[in-house]
Amino acid sequence: MTLLSKRLQAVYQMVDKDTRMADIGSDHAYLPVELIEQKVASYAIAGEVAKGPMSRSKEDVDKFGLSNQIDVRLGDGLAVINGTDKIDTVVIAGMGGILIQNILSNATAEELSNVKTLILQPNIGEPLVRHWLVENDFMIVDEDIVSEDHHVYEIIKAKKVEKTVALTEPEFLMGPVLIKKKTPTFTAKWQHKLHGYQKAVENMGHAKKIDQAKIDVMNQYIKYIEEIL
Ligand code: SAM
Repeated sequence: MTLLSKRLQAVYQMVDKDTRMADIGSDHAYLPVELIEQKVASYAIAGEVAKGPMSRSKEDVDKFGLSNQIDVRLGDGLAVINGTDKIDTVVIAGMGGILIQNILSNATAEELSNVKTLILQPNIGEPLVRHWLVENDFMIVDEDIVSEDHHVYEIIKAKKVEKTVALTEPEFLMGPVLIKKKTPTFTAKWQHKLHGYQKAVENMGHAKKIDQAKIDVMNQYIKYIEEIL
Protein backbone atom coordinates (compact mmCIF):
# COMPACT_ATOMS: atom_id res chain seq x y z
CA MET A 1 0.00 0.00 0.00
CA THR A 2 1.39 3.34 -0.94
CA LEU A 3 1.55 6.31 1.40
CA LEU A 4 1.62 8.66 -1.54
CA SER A 5 -1.12 10.98 -2.74
CA LYS A 6 -1.77 11.21 -6.49
CA ARG A 7 0.42 14.36 -6.55
CA LEU A 8 3.34 12.67 -4.77
CA GLN A 9 2.89 9.55 -6.95
CA ALA A 10 3.48 11.77 -9.97
CA VAL A 11 6.64 13.18 -8.33
CA TYR A 12 7.77 9.62 -7.47
CA GLN A 13 7.39 8.55 -11.13
CA MET A 14 9.91 11.21 -12.17
CA VAL A 15 12.74 9.83 -10.00
CA ASP A 16 15.36 7.82 -11.91
CA LYS A 17 16.41 4.38 -10.69
CA ASP A 18 19.49 3.90 -8.45
CA THR A 19 19.54 7.50 -7.43
CA ARG A 20 20.85 9.20 -4.29
CA MET A 21 18.20 11.74 -3.56
CA ALA A 22 17.33 14.58 -1.18
CA ASP A 23 13.72 15.54 -0.48
CA ILE A 24 13.87 19.17 0.65
CA GLY A 25 10.89 20.18 2.80
CA SER A 26 10.02 16.52 3.27
CA ASP A 27 7.52 16.99 6.14
CA HIS A 28 6.35 13.38 6.70
CA ALA A 29 9.15 11.73 4.62
CA TYR A 30 6.58 9.68 2.65
CA LEU A 31 8.42 10.20 -0.63
CA PRO A 32 11.89 9.02 0.53
CA VAL A 33 10.28 6.09 2.39
CA GLU A 34 8.50 4.92 -0.78
CA LEU A 35 11.56 5.47 -2.99
CA ILE A 36 13.78 3.41 -0.67
CA GLU A 37 11.16 0.70 -0.05
CA GLN A 38 10.66 0.24 -3.80
CA LYS A 39 14.44 0.32 -4.36
CA VAL A 40 14.20 3.27 -6.75
CA ALA A 41 16.65 5.24 -4.58
CA SER A 42 19.64 3.70 -2.84
CA TYR A 43 20.01 6.52 -0.32
CA ALA A 44 17.88 9.51 0.70
CA ILE A 45 18.05 12.63 2.83
CA ALA A 46 14.78 14.00 4.20
CA GLY A 47 15.51 17.70 4.80
CA GLU A 48 13.27 19.92 6.91
CA VAL A 49 13.59 23.46 8.20
CA ALA A 50 10.96 23.02 10.92
CA LYS A 51 11.46 20.86 14.03
CA GLY A 52 7.87 19.48 14.17
CA PRO A 53 7.86 18.00 10.65
CA MET A 54 11.47 16.88 11.14
CA SER A 55 10.44 14.78 14.18
CA ARG A 56 7.49 13.42 12.20
CA SER A 57 9.85 12.38 9.40
CA LYS A 58 12.18 10.70 11.90
CA GLU A 59 9.26 8.75 13.43
CA ASP A 60 8.14 7.53 9.97
CA VAL A 61 11.64 6.52 8.93
CA ASP A 62 12.20 4.62 12.22
CA LYS A 63 8.75 3.00 11.97
CA PHE A 64 9.65 1.57 8.56
CA GLY A 65 13.10 0.49 9.79
CA LEU A 66 14.83 2.59 7.14
CA SER A 67 17.10 4.77 9.27
CA ASN A 68 20.25 3.25 7.74
CA GLN A 69 19.20 4.41 4.25
CA ILE A 70 17.33 7.66 5.02
CA ASP A 71 18.98 10.48 6.96
CA VAL A 72 16.52 12.96 8.42
CA ARG A 73 18.25 16.33 8.75
CA LEU A 74 17.16 19.67 10.14
CA GLY A 75 18.23 22.66 8.02
CA ASP A 76 17.33 25.36 5.54
CA GLY A 77 16.98 24.19 1.95
CA LEU A 78 19.97 22.45 0.40
CA ALA A 79 22.16 23.25 3.44
CA VAL A 80 21.37 19.72 4.67
CA ILE A 81 23.44 18.31 1.77
CA ASN A 82 27.23 17.83 1.97
CA GLY A 83 29.49 17.12 -1.01
CA THR A 84 30.30 13.70 0.50
CA ASP A 85 26.60 12.68 0.37
CA LYS A 86 26.90 12.45 -3.44
CA ILE A 87 23.27 13.48 -3.89
CA ASP A 88 22.43 13.39 -7.61
CA THR A 89 18.70 14.17 -7.43
CA VAL A 90 16.91 16.87 -5.46
CA VAL A 91 13.13 16.97 -5.05
CA ILE A 92 11.35 20.09 -3.81
CA ALA A 93 7.59 19.55 -3.72
CA GLY A 94 4.43 21.05 -2.26
CA MET A 95 5.57 24.69 -1.91
CA GLY A 96 5.01 27.92 -3.80
CA GLY A 97 7.20 28.77 -6.79
CA ILE A 98 8.76 31.76 -5.00
CA LEU A 99 9.90 29.58 -2.10
CA ILE A 100 11.28 26.90 -4.45
CA GLN A 101 13.14 29.58 -6.44
CA ASN A 102 14.56 31.07 -3.20
CA ILE A 103 15.69 27.68 -1.90
CA LEU A 104 17.49 26.99 -5.21
CA SER A 105 19.03 30.48 -5.38
CA ASN A 106 20.37 30.14 -1.84
CA ALA A 107 22.08 26.82 -2.58
CA THR A 108 25.88 26.95 -2.70
CA ALA A 109 28.00 25.57 -5.54
CA GLU A 110 29.13 22.74 -3.23
CA GLU A 111 25.56 21.76 -2.34
CA LEU A 112 24.65 21.63 -6.03
CA SER A 113 27.97 20.11 -7.16
CA ASN A 114 26.76 16.52 -7.68
CA VAL A 115 23.14 17.38 -8.50
CA LYS A 116 22.27 16.26 -12.02
CA THR A 117 18.49 16.15 -11.69
CA LEU A 118 15.96 18.50 -10.10
CA ILE A 119 12.33 17.45 -9.66
CA LEU A 120 10.21 20.40 -8.66
CA GLN A 121 6.51 20.56 -7.86
CA PRO A 122 5.38 24.12 -7.23
CA ASN A 123 1.79 24.52 -6.02
CA ILE A 124 1.68 27.90 -7.77
CA GLY A 125 4.11 30.16 -9.69
CA GLU A 126 5.45 27.53 -12.12
CA PRO A 127 6.91 30.14 -14.58
CA LEU A 128 9.28 31.42 -11.83
CA VAL A 129 10.64 27.93 -11.38
CA ARG A 130 11.12 27.46 -15.14
CA HIS A 131 12.99 30.79 -15.28
CA TRP A 132 15.38 29.68 -12.52
CA LEU A 133 16.05 26.40 -14.33
CA VAL A 134 16.82 28.04 -17.67
CA GLU A 135 19.01 30.73 -16.06
CA ASN A 136 21.00 28.05 -14.21
CA ASP A 137 21.53 25.60 -17.10
CA PHE A 138 19.00 22.97 -16.09
CA MET A 139 17.10 21.70 -19.12
CA ILE A 140 13.47 20.67 -18.66
CA VAL A 141 13.30 17.04 -19.81
CA ASP A 142 9.87 16.00 -18.54
CA GLU A 143 6.74 17.48 -17.03
CA ASP A 144 3.49 16.08 -15.70
CA ILE A 145 0.20 17.60 -14.62
CA VAL A 146 -2.27 16.00 -12.20
CA SER A 147 -5.51 17.04 -10.66
CA GLU A 148 -6.25 16.19 -7.02
CA ASP A 149 -8.80 17.60 -4.58
CA HIS A 150 -9.83 20.41 -6.97
CA HIS A 151 -6.25 21.59 -7.43
CA VAL A 152 -4.06 21.09 -10.49
CA TYR A 153 -0.38 20.37 -9.83
CA GLU A 154 2.52 20.55 -12.27
CA ILE A 155 5.72 18.53 -11.85
CA ILE A 156 8.89 19.67 -13.61
CA LYS A 157 11.97 17.48 -14.10
CA ALA A 158 15.21 19.09 -15.26
CA LYS A 159 18.76 17.87 -15.96
CA LYS A 160 22.01 19.82 -15.59
CA VAL A 161 23.47 20.63 -19.01
CA GLU A 162 26.42 22.69 -20.31
CA LYS A 163 24.12 25.26 -21.82
CA THR A 164 20.36 25.11 -21.88
CA VAL A 165 18.13 26.46 -24.63
CA ALA A 166 15.87 29.46 -24.04
CA LEU A 167 12.13 28.95 -23.72
CA THR A 168 9.42 31.00 -25.39
CA GLU A 169 6.97 33.00 -23.24
CA PRO A 170 4.16 30.44 -23.74
CA GLU A 171 6.62 27.70 -22.73
CA PHE A 172 7.56 29.53 -19.51
CA LEU A 173 3.87 29.96 -18.74
CA MET A 174 2.48 26.56 -19.68
CA GLY A 175 5.51 24.26 -19.74
CA PRO A 176 7.48 23.13 -22.82
CA VAL A 177 6.77 19.41 -22.31
CA LEU A 178 3.18 19.90 -21.11
CA ILE A 179 2.44 21.90 -24.28
CA LYS A 180 3.64 18.93 -26.35
CA LYS A 181 1.77 16.33 -24.26
CA LYS A 182 -1.43 18.39 -24.16
CA THR A 183 -3.23 15.99 -21.81
CA PRO A 184 -6.93 16.44 -20.92
CA THR A 185 -5.90 17.84 -17.48
CA PHE A 186 -3.66 20.41 -19.19
CA THR A 187 -6.39 21.46 -21.62
CA ALA A 188 -8.97 21.72 -18.81
CA LYS A 189 -6.61 23.84 -16.67
CA TRP A 190 -5.90 26.31 -19.45
CA GLN A 191 -9.47 26.51 -20.69
CA HIS A 192 -10.47 27.44 -17.13
CA LYS A 193 -7.66 30.03 -16.91
CA LEU A 194 -8.54 31.43 -20.34
CA HIS A 195 -12.11 31.94 -19.25
CA GLY A 196 -10.88 33.65 -16.05
CA TYR A 197 -8.57 36.03 -17.95
CA GLN A 198 -11.31 36.87 -20.50
CA LYS A 199 -13.74 37.69 -17.69
CA ALA A 200 -11.09 39.76 -15.88
CA VAL A 201 -10.35 41.81 -19.03
CA GLU A 202 -14.07 42.38 -19.55
CA ASN A 203 -14.51 43.54 -15.92
CA MET A 204 -11.40 45.74 -16.02
CA GLY A 205 -12.79 47.40 -19.17
CA HIS A 206 -15.82 48.52 -17.13
CA ALA A 207 -13.78 49.87 -14.21
CA LYS A 208 -13.83 53.61 -13.41
CA LYS A 209 -10.05 53.82 -13.71
CA ILE A 210 -8.79 51.58 -16.49
CA ASP A 211 -5.47 49.84 -15.77
CA GLN A 212 -4.29 49.45 -19.35
CA ALA A 213 -0.96 47.82 -18.41
CA LYS A 214 -2.78 45.04 -16.53
CA ILE A 215 -5.24 44.58 -19.40
CA ASP A 216 -2.31 44.28 -21.83
CA VAL A 217 -0.70 41.56 -19.70
CA MET A 218 -3.99 39.62 -19.50
CA ASN A 219 -4.51 39.97 -23.25
CA GLN A 220 -1.00 38.66 -23.83
CA TYR A 221 -1.79 35.57 -21.68
CA ILE A 222 -5.06 35.10 -23.60
CA LYS A 223 -3.14 35.20 -26.88
CA TYR A 224 -0.57 32.63 -25.71
CA ILE A 225 -3.22 30.26 -24.34
CA GLU A 226 -5.41 30.51 -27.46
CA GLU A 227 -2.35 29.80 -29.63
CA ILE A 228 -1.45 26.69 -27.66
CA LEU A 229 -4.94 25.29 -27.17
N1 SAM B 1 7.27 17.88 0.32
C1 SAM B 1 6.08 17.43 1.01
C2 SAM B 1 4.96 17.21 0.05
O1 SAM B 1 5.09 17.59 -1.12
O2 SAM B 1 3.93 16.67 0.46
C3 SAM B 1 5.69 18.41 2.11
C4 SAM B 1 5.23 19.75 1.61
S1 SAM B 1 4.90 20.82 2.96
C5 SAM B 1 3.52 21.68 2.41
C6 SAM B 1 6.22 21.99 2.85
C7 SAM B 1 7.33 21.67 3.84
O3 SAM B 1 8.48 22.43 3.47
C8 SAM B 1 6.99 22.05 5.27
O4 SAM B 1 7.13 20.93 6.10
C9 SAM B 1 8.00 23.15 5.61
O5 SAM B 1 8.44 23.10 6.96
C10 SAM B 1 9.15 22.84 4.65
N2 SAM B 1 10.00 23.98 4.28
C11 SAM B 1 9.62 25.26 4.00
N3 SAM B 1 10.70 26.01 3.71
C12 SAM B 1 11.78 25.19 3.78
C13 SAM B 1 13.18 25.38 3.61
N4 SAM B 1 13.69 26.58 3.29
N5 SAM B 1 13.99 24.32 3.77
C14 SAM B 1 13.52 23.10 4.11
N6 SAM B 1 12.19 22.87 4.31
C15 SAM B 1 11.34 23.90 4.14
